[in-house]
Amino acid sequence: MTKVYRFTCIVCPLSCTIEVEMEGGKIKDIKGYTCPRGKEWAIEEVINPKRVVMSVVPVEGGKLPTVSVKTERPIPKDKIPELMSMLAKIKVKAPVKIGDVIAEFEGVKIIATREA
Ligand code: SF4
Repeated sequence: MTKVYRFTCIVCPLSCTIEVEMEGGKIKDIKGYTCPRGKEWAIEEVINPKRVVMSVVPVEGGKLPTVSVKTERPIPKDKIPELMSMLAKIKVKAPVKIGDVIAEFEGVKIIATREA
């Protein structure tokens, strides 16, 4: 059975529409990309989609009650619920500076994106 995935490429502002045709779990055809980076991104989006995750964690004794954080690089989408559960259990102590590593998830650093 053939399945067609249609994406708007997010790699650059050109926003090409890319279609990936899958058959029997394998890529049969890819259309619509303008450059190799878009083709690579579309293949990964079908086979192993990843996202940079942003969230907040509570801060003890800080100027603000929470600090915003993000993963240093994209993680597999199916790992996001596990990461969010881990972040829900974290509390950091002030002071927190931008760029501080507040935790690590499967080898990916979780970085503070503001001071608190
Ligand atoms: S396919 Fe290439 S040119 Fe088109 S949006 Fe993606 S990165 Fe940009």
